[in-house]
Order: sequence, then structure tokens, then C-alpha cells
Amino acid sequence: MYKSIVIGTGPAGLTAAIYLARANLNPLVIEGVQPGGQLTTTTEVENFPGFPQGIQGPELMDNMRKQAERFGAEFRSGWVEQVDFSVRPFKVKVEGGDELESETVILSTGASARYLSIPGEQENVGRGVSTCATCDGFFFRGKKIIVVGGGDSAMEEASFLTRFASTVTLVHRRDELRASKIMQDRARSNEKVQWALNRTPLAVVTDENSTVKGLKVRNNATNQEELVEADGVFVAIGHTPNTKFLGDAIHTDDHGYIIVKPGTTETNIPGVFACGDVQDTRYRQAITAAGSGCMAAMDCEKYLEGSMVHDWSETLNP
Ligand SMILES: Cc1cc2nc3c(=O)[nH]c(=O)nc-3n(C[C@H](O)[C@H](O)[C@H](O)COP(=O)(O)OP(=O)(O)OC[C@H]3O[C@@H](n4cnc5c(N)ncnc54)[C@H](O)[C@@H]3O)c2cc1C
Repeated sequence: MYKSIVIGTGPAGLTAAIYLARANLNPLVIEGVQPGGQLTTTTEVENFPGFPQGIQGPELMDNMRKQAERFGAEFRSGWVEQVDFSVRPFKVKVEGGDELESETVILSTGASARYLSIPGEQENVGRGVSTCATCDGFFFRGKKIIVVGGGDSAMEEASFLTRFASTVTLVHRRDELRASKIMQDRARSNEKVQWALNRTPLAVVTDENSTVKGLKVRNNATNQEELVEADGVFVAIGHTPNTKFLGDAIHTDDHGYIIVKPGTTETNIPGVFACGDVQDTRYRQAITAAGSGCMAAMDCEKYLEGSMVHDWSETLNP
């Protein structure tokens, strides 16, 4: 039986593993389908403190893993299909049928950005296609950008990206936007923002050097194909937290994000903690994920010592 099982190996899970291992708790870390998490899908990471020249995403994650292994964290590949939270110790069922027992569980399964699933998209992630303006806007200084989406986050990303871009074209498949009026007004009053509404994205277009040149769209009014030219395409159509495998035992919000007691990583079940993007609807950055991974490990240590009072009553239930 383990004292702690960490589910997920992004910055949150690996930071939790480093802290738990250094506290002599020998955690088991389950990697999931994306060992190293989302940052393994990007190239340069320029905003993680401690790397003045930047660092490649996969290298940063590899370093974190080695750091956790150095202190005794055990790793296991595969994904978790189910966790039985109704028994103690908890039973963690891993792909293939193995059942592992643990006194505590740290949930760090992230939130996956939604993509358009069009040709040219996946192969250019990190090379002109992005889902994170805060992360990648800086790479597009003086360039033309497209933002795809019609909700608040698309408006926010578009407005933010005008700090860097020469123009930002908002592409949305409908004529009307889902975004709140205040967010729409903010984007509409920005003279760098242009609009390509009622256009369905068909493909990310690249030139012979595999450099992104724009987005092929269908104009739904004329049924004609058009090219919206740009150097970068930001897809802002939302995120899906990876919480389906948890069933109903863990409280989540309407979108599936885990609810934690404010200022902590405690979930509604004593001994189960959540960190990183899976419980974060606002920041979704590597450094905030790592920070909350540290918090989860420290909360977990306190729980195992018996010095944690679980008072969920202050937390609003969904
Ligand atoms: C292309 C791209 C570029 C980015 N660039 C930056 C950047 O420059 N700077 C920055 O700060 N942030 C950046 N981000 C955001 C950053 O990657 C995330 O905020 C961060 O990775 C979140 O960490 P996490 O540990 O919460 O989750 P994730 O990194 O999403 O990791 C989740 C982990 O959970 C595992 N998992 C999921 N479900 C299961 C399951 N059922 N069983 C077992 N394991 C499971 C996955 O395999 C994965 O290992 C970028 C994101 C993307 C997509």
C-alpha cells in the first residue's frame, strides 16, 4: 500500500512528487497518456522562472521527473480508469485491471485545450498554432494573428494579443458571439481587432517551409472558401478538465473542474487533493500548476501526520 499516489505527470503532479519524495513518503506517480503533460507539446518555454534563456518544454518536464526520481518517487506508465473513494485505503484502478491502494491521492490530471480538429492544426502546435496567448503571444511581435472562438476567453485573448500583433482577426463560425457584452465591447473598441464572423475554419495553411500562413475558412454566407492570412493561429474554444474517470465522488463545477476549499488543495473527500489545471479555471500556467502541486504535497503530509482538520463546510457546494 502506498502513502500517496499522484495521478498525472505535468508540472503539478511532478512538483507534488518532488515534495512528497523529499518528505520520505515514496509516492507512486501514474503518468497517463501524456507523460510530462501539456508542456511536452510545445517548444520554447520563456516564462518559467530560473531559465533566463528559456527552456524547451520537454526538457523542462524531463528535468522535473529526474528531480522527483532522485528523491525516490516511483513512476508507472498507463492511465487511471477509476478510483474507489468509498473505501480506505483508496483503490486506484489502473488501465489493464491492476488495483493499487493508497492512503491519499493527489489529482493532477490537467485540463486539455480543445482543438478544431482540422488539417494542419496538430502538426503546427508550437510552430504557429497555439492555445495559450499568455504563453505564446510574445513570439508574435509585429505579426498578424488569428484568434478562433466566440466566447469570453476568445475576446480576452484577442484583446491581450493586440499588445504584440500588428492585427488580430477574430474568426468565428457564427454571426453572433457567445461572449458577454462587456468583453465584446472591449474587443470591438480595439482598432487592431478585425472580424471574420460566420466563417467555418477548414485548415491551417502553411507554405513550402512549413511556416503558418493563415487559416482556410468557408464563408457561410457565400459558401465560398477564403484564406485569412496570418502568422499565428490561436485556438480559444475552451478547455476540458480531465475528470471524467472520477465519477461523481469528487465535487466539480458545471464544467467538470474540481472544486477545492479556497486557498488549499483539499477536495470534498479527506485525503484527496487536487492541483494544477484540473482545479484552475483562471491561470492555467506551468508555474501556477507547479505552485499548487507543492501545496497539495504539503497538505497531504499534514493529513498523513493527522494534523489536518477537514472542514469542508466553509466551501460552497456546486
Ligand atoms: C502548447 C502549449 C504551450 C504552453 N506553453 C506554456 C508556457 O510557455 N508557459 C506556461 O506557463 N504554460 C504553458 N502552457 C500551459 C501549461 O502547459 C499548463 O498550464 C500546465 O502544463 C498544467 O499542468 P498540470 O500539471 O496541471 O497538467 P498537465 O500538464 O495537463 O498534465 C496532466 C497530466 O495528467 C495525466 N492524466 C490525465 N488523465 C489521466 C488519467 N486518467 N490517468 C493518469 N494520468 C492522467 C496526463 O497524462 C498528464 O501527464 C502551455 C500549454 C500548451 C498546451
